[in-house]
Amino acid sequence: MRMHTREVKIGDVKIGGENPIRIQSMTNTKTQDVEGTVAQILALEAAGCEIIRSTVPTLEAAKALGEIRKRIHIPMVADIHFDYRMAIAAMENGADKIRINPGNIGEAWKVRAVVDCARERGLPIRVGVNSGSLEKEILEKNGGVTAEGLVESALDKVKLIEDMGYDNLVISIKSSNVPMCIRAHQLISDQTDHPLHVGITESGTVTSGTIKSSVGLGAILSQGIGDTIRVSLTGDPVQEVVVAQKILQSLGLRKCGIEVVSCPTCGRTEIDLITLANQVEAMVAGYDLNLKVAVMGCVVNGPGEAREADLGIAGGKGVGLLIKGGEVIRKLPEAELLDALRYELDHWGR
Ligand code: SF4
Repeated sequence: MRMHTREVKIGDVKIGGENPIRIQSMTNTKTQDVEGTVAQILALEAAGCEIIRSTVPTLEAAKALGEIRKRIHIPMVADIHFDYRMAIAAMENGADKIRINPGNIGEAWKVRAVVDCARERGLPIRVGVNSGSLEKEILEKNGGVTAEGLVESALDKVKLIEDMGYDNLVISIKSSNVPMCIRAHQLISDQTDHPLHVGITESGTVTSGTIKSSVGLGAILSQGIGDTIRVSLTGDPVQEVVVAQKILQSLGLRKCGIEVVSCPTCGRTEIDLITLANQVEAMVAGYDLNLKVAVMGCVVNGPGEAREADLGIAGGKGVGLLIKGGEVIRKLPEAELLDALRYELDHWGR
């Protein structure tokens, strides 16, 4: 069961409460490069990204936010480190939310200035704590970086802002250590009802980052914890969105288009299933349907294994089967399988 959290509005997108778990990503362009940043955000939107974050390290980047906001369709979060003036400039230029670690903003009056600006505009603040930014006292008290320390640090920052009379907050606690990250989320979700943005930080290249994020986010989300997610990958951010969708899809938490299941192949396989499965995956990306499509490598076990899918194809020696709702509906030459599947998708529900 999903843990109860408060609802927070980021631009037009609501998170927390009963809202779907939202997919976020982060641009890796220079934010002041308006053309490049807009192009990347539009590609991310097309892939399914619902909230985008961009770094704002300079006034030039803050000013660019305003221009970028006019040309995109999803809310924009300004990522701020150290300089409270950048947080204020980002909000003045149209950011829908800011992400800060009050611990690296400095004196309380600077944090208060940021909070006052957010309050005036009704903008949420994400309080983000990373394992790499824990305070010395917390590290000493816990004997290093621990889940307990991460939670303590985050809740201290939340209290600091709440004591300033503002509670339009989202929390993130990130670590690249998967078990620590899971434990920290279990601990914090018992102690707060602010929405949680969940991610495994510095998770690595596309392959290892996908695995780490899937394991970490999967464990956290399956306990009902998490209101927005970001998969961090050293790669094209569009990949982050694709992986995030697949994580949510595989947990049954979001319907994000057609899910392709394909068999692992075995000694019975008599067709080039790897090519066929990749062709199917590329083909279904263009459909706005929430279905499961199975791609199986033999006509003996394939139909049985495809039973749980809405549509399926199974290939044998020169012959293929088209399966719908668990029943074989056509026998056709193997070379026509892809077209037959496309026809069914084009006419789905008609
Ligand atoms: Fe092997 Fe057929 Fe099962 Fe694929 S569907 S793994 S080819 S038995």
